[in-house]
Amino acid sequence: MLNLVSDNLLRVKERIKTACLKHGRNAGDVKLVAVSKTKPIEMLYMAMEKGQSEFGENYVQDALAKINVLPQATWHFIGNIQSNKTQLIANNFNWVHSLASVKVARRLNKQRGTKEPLNVLLQVNVSKDPAKTGIRADTANQILEEIQDLENLKLRGLMTITENTEDQSKQHQHFARLSQILEELNSQYSLPDFNQLSMGMTRDLEAAIAEGSTIVRIGTDIFGARETRAR
Ligand SMILES: *Cc1c(COP(=O)(O)O)cnc(C)c1O
Repeated sequence: MLNLVSDNLLRVKERIKTACLKHGRNAGDVKLVAVSKTKPIEMLYMAMEKGQSEFGENYVQDALAKINVLPQATWHFIGNIQSNKTQLIANNFNWVHSLASVKVARRLNKQRGTKEPLNVLLQVNVSKDPAKTGIRADTANQILEEIQDLENLKLRGLMTITENTEDQSKQHQHFARLSQILEELNSQYSLPDFNQLSMGMTRDLEAAIAEGSTIVRIGTDIFGARETRAR
């Protein structure tokens, strides 16, 4: 099972490279975040041994146990943020992909303290899927307006999860929309490093790279299928 992780990792890197080549992009411009939620630490060690140093987690408590033993990795929080978890997130993660409210932004900012600024991405619900979290695209300016001066947050760009569909034209359409929103926001605000698009999972990595993704979040294709859980 563990050896599979290293084979899978190579295969995912190959998928990224192939998609980049096809769309005239540099494979080095797309960062791979290995989504390790629900997976045992041994699998993360195996991935690290193969050079993978960025991991994504959705559940704070589970993640803390892993961060404690692998503090040298770069940790991305990608799950829904409950207000009572912001302190732990602010203190233990390097990136947050799932910022979706001003209130949570203010809490993270306050609780980050004296560490280097937390890299944050605004999660946008481009597919307007009611089951997905994220802000509506038409509220992005207003939210940026309110959070751009929070000094312990570094606004890095946008994140989205597309609706669960195999329909590739829909995947492209949603990712292209996110890319367009990033451009629009950059034409209105001068935020120095607001240039990241976190989009693309196991099912839609290729479409995401075609539309300009700079960070892909891959779980299943690296660590295998997860048991579904109720939370
Ligand atoms: C679980 C998860 C992923 C990884 O999904 P896979 O389909 O396993 O690649 C990516 N992003 C978010 C926000 C997730 O919750």
